[in-house]
Amino acid sequence: MAAGTIIIGAGHAGIQAAASLRLEGYDGPIRVLTDEHSLPYHKPPLSKTFLKQPEPRPQLLRAEGFYTSNNITLERGVRVAEIRPDAHRIRLSCGREEPYDKLILATGARPRPLSLPEGGGLQDAQIAALRTVADAEALRAQIAASRSLVIVGAGFIGLELAATLAALGKTVTVTEMSDRVLGRVVAPAVSSHILATLRAAGVTIHLNSGLSMIGPGREHHHEMRLTGGERIEADLLVSSIGVEPDTGLARAAGLNCDNGILVDGLMQTSDSDILAIGDCARFPHQASGRLLRLESVQAATDQARTAAATLCGRVTPYVALPWFWSDIGDQKLQMAGISTGADQQILLPAGQDGAFSVCHFAGSRLLAVDSVNRPADHLLARKMLNAGFSPRPEDVAANRLAEAFATWQSMPAIPADQ
Ligand SMILES: Cc1cc2nc3c(=O)[nH]c(=O)nc-3n(C[C@H](O)[C@H](O)[C@H](O)COP(=O)(O)OP(=O)(O)OC[C@H]3O[C@@H](n4cnc5c(N)ncnc54)[C@H](O)[C@@H]3O)c2cc1C
Repeated sequence: MAAGTIIIGAGHAGIQAAASLRLEGYDGPIRVLTDEHSLPYHKPPLSKTFLKQPEPRPQLLRAEGFYTSNNITLERGVRVAEIRPDAHRIRLSCGREEPYDKLILATGARPRPLSLPEGGGLQDAQIAALRTVADAEALRAQIAASRSLVIVGAGFIGLELAATLAALGKTVTVTEMSDRVLGRVVAPAVSSHILATLRAAGVTIHLNSGLSMIGPGREHHHEMRLTGGERIEADLLVSSIGVEPDTGLARAAGLNCDNGILVDGLMQTSDSDILAIGDCARFPHQASGRLLRLESVQAATDQARTAAATLCGRVTPYVALPWFWSDIGDQKLQMAGISTGADQQILLPAGQDGAFSVCHFAGSRLLAVDSVNRPADHLLARKMLNAGFSPRPEDVAANRLAEAFATWQSMPAIPADQ
C-alpha cells in the first residue's frame, strides 16, 4: 500500500494543502501532524477579537467533520523530531516512525526570542509572546491580572495588540527600535497615520527606542529603562519583535535553507519529494526577481494550492499576487503587492472620512498599494496588479484610478509582432 503524503503542521498552509490535494483528486493517504492540541484554527483573530471576547473559542479552519469526511488523518499533540529523506521516513518525538511518499513541510514560524539586557533578573517565562491559541489563552489570563503593559516591537501584531489592550482600558506602552511603526512593510504615510491613531487612543509609543535595563519594580511591577532614558513600570512585558521560520527539521535533514526553507516555484525543496509552504518557505518571487518569505494567510493558502497541484502532476508555479490585511483597532489596513524596491510613493487623496491609499512605484511601474479603510481601492489594486496595469502618477494624484484602468482595459491588445 502507498505510504501517501505526510504534512507536518496544521496551520493555514498545512490544512489548505490537505484540502487542495483532495480537490485535485489525490486519492492516497493524507496524514497531517501537529504538535498543537487544538483543532486547526485561524490565527489572525488571536491579536484582535479573541482577547476581548468574554468566552472566546478558536475560530476553526474547517468543521470538525471535514477531516474524516475527506479521509484525512489529523494527529494532534505529536511532534516530528526527525526527517530521514533517504529512507522516506519521519520519526516522532515519541519514537514512532512513519513512511511517506511525499512530505509537505508547513511548520510555520516561531516568535523571535527577545534578548534582554544583562542582569535584568527577568526569566523568559515572564515575557509573553503571541503565536498560538495556547499563547493567547495564557495572555488573556495575564492581561486580566495586569493594569499596565509594555509591548516591545511595533509590527502588525504588536500594534493590533496595543489597540486591543487600550480598548480594554489597559495602560499600554509600545517601544520600537526604528524611527516609525510598521517600518518594514508600509508607506511612511500609513505609519504616521497609525501612530497618530494609536496615540489618540491613549497608547504611548516610543520610537528609536530599545530596552536598556529591565528588573523588578515596586510590588509586582517590572521596571524598564529605555535607551532614550525613559523609565517605565508595567505589570506585563509582551515581546512582539517578529518571527523566525521554523527550519530546524529541514536543516537537520540536509535541505537547503536560508532565512526559510528554499523552494522553487512549484514549492519543491532541494529534495523533490519534500515540499515546503507558508511562513517557513522562501520562494523565488517572479515579479521582483527576489527570494521572498511571506508571513500571511493568503500566501500560506496560495502556496498550499500550488504544492497540491505539484504533487498531482500539474505544473502551475506560484505566481499569485501577495496581499495582506491587518485590523489595528478600527483601522483596516490592506496591502496588495510587494513594495520592496519602490522609489516613490504617491498618495491617493483622502476622502472626508480620512481613509486613503498609497501607491508604491518603481519608476513608472506600480508595485504595490497600501490602503487604510478603503477596501474598494484595495480590490481595484489587486485587479490592476494582477492585470499588469500601471496607472500614470497624475491619474493617481487626481484619484482617477478606476477610470484609467477601465480605459486601459477597453484598449485593443497590441499584436505581439508590433
Ligand atoms: C496573532 C497573529 C495575528 C495574525 N494576523 C494576521 C492577519 O491579520 N492577516 C494575515 O494575513 N496574517 C496574519 N497572521 C499571520 C498568519 O497567521 C500566518 O502567516 C499563517 O498562520 C502562516 O500559516 P502556516 O501554516 O505557514 O504556519 P503556522 O500557522 O505557524 O502553522 C505551523 C504549525 O506547524 C506546527 N509545527 C511546527 N513544527 C512542528 C513539528 N516538528 N511537529 C509537529 N508540528 C509542528 C506548529 O506548531 C504550527 O501549529 C497573524 C499571525 C498571528 C500569530
